[in-house]
Amino acid sequence: MTIQEDLTVLEALKSILDTVDVLEVEQVPLLDGLQRILAEPIKSRTDLPPFSNSSMDGYAVIAEDIKTAAPNDPVTLPVIADIAAGTVADHTLQKGTTARITTGAPIPEGADAIVPVEYTSEPWRDPERRLPEQIAIYQSASSGDYIRWPGEDVKAGEQVLEYGIRIRPQEIGMLASLGYDKVSVVRKPRVGILATGDELVAIDQPLKPGQIRNSNSYSQAAQVMALNAIPVLLGVAGDSEKSVREHLRVGIEQKVDLFISSAGVSVGAYDHVKSVLESDGGVQFWRVRMRPGKPLAFGTYQGVPYLGLPGNPVSAMVSFERFARPAILKMAGNSFLDRPTVRVEMLDEIHSDGRESYIRSLVRLGKNGYEARITGSQGSHIQSSLTKANALVIMPEGVKSVAPGTILEAMMIDWPGYVF
Ligand code: AMP
Ligand code: MG
Repeated sequence: MTIQEDLTVLEALKSILDTVDVLEVEQVPLLDGLQRILAEPIKSRTDLPPFSNSSMDGYAVIAEDIKTAAPNDPVTLPVIADIAAGTVADHTLQKGTTARITTGAPIPEGADAIVPVEYTSEPWRDPERRLPEQIAIYQSASSGDYIRWPGEDVKAGEQVLEYGIRIRPQEIGMLASLGYDKVSVVRKPRVGILATGDELVAIDQPLKPGQIRNSNSYSQAAQVMALNAIPVLLGVAGDSEKSVREHLRVGIEQKVDLFISSAGVSVGAYDHVKSVLESDGGVQFWRVRMRPGKPLAFGTYQGVPYLGLPGNPVSAMVSFERFARPAILKMAGNSFLDRPTVRVEMLDEIHSDGRESYIRSLVRLGKNGYEARITGSQGSHIQSSLTKANALVIMPEGVKSVAPGTILEAMMIDWPGYVF
């Protein structure tokens, strides 16, 4: 395989998305379907509502009987039944009678309207809820008032949810109403996460001279979890081909769907990830014209797609955003793979080197629309400016400086109240 080099961001993304496939379908308990992609069209087996019922606490009437009712001239009717939600309405309303009814209770035979309790003489704050022998009604009704008809929401046999939608809480509620205790969805991607580098130590260990903590495994696991996918932590490999292979073997055993590693894909003497890929799989491309995140390798390892991210923490996270996130979403069956973007007025002067640049920024709604400020130093090792950012403002390829007031596109990595 010839290795493509120095791709644009879009070329690299296309190459990755053309390689990864949507995973298989599995059946899971309803709640486990949340935030996953529905893999069956949902047809209703019943009407919703399943029977005609009252939308108010009140009195079931024949509208004709109370057509003269008014606040100063009520119509008084004998109360022949008390129909509560959950009971069967086994009474028939004869002309000139009424029945007390609660919200959700079945409409009795013969009735064609409900009068809300507020328009009757019932002392509805009575804690004992005694059934009056007769009731005065202070308002007329039209046939159909406050009645919910069977099939008004969903008809039996109707297609309610489409194949391929993402299941949100409202879809969970609908599926529950239709009696689906299980649902077919796309399997969650299992993402193997490998850190590489002799300088890395576990986060609970004291640092010896020259060492740093392995933060990338955590940020990447968190990014995977935020996508409702499953991180499979493969630990830290040393800077040798042998160690990288040993750790990747565990990922193969654990049946990961995608490998993500960090570091070791540059041009340094100890950068072994690319050579391992070259010998045990294939490198599809290497290096992307973006900033941060130029040293990126993509290929397969023993048949499993493999994304080698740069080592610097910010480069790794931004590359994950740009490449791993859409790939994982595609595997999980999603059709919308991009972060939402907004046009922003950049309030600060910004500089780059002509590569497509992702500027850590804070976007806010200003008087004239969205505006952005950079959140600090843009070095690829500066994590603090990423923790302050809610967006990556994109400086297109070829642009080396941007004056304050310029309109740019911002990729929103966060949004107030926005989850996933
Ligand atoms: P490299 O790609 O191996 O040249 O690494 C680039 C930079 O990222 C170096 O300063 C590394 O120490 C740092 N780095 C690599 N892996 C990690 C990691 N897992 N956590 C934090 N920093 C890392
Ligand atoms: Mg290294």
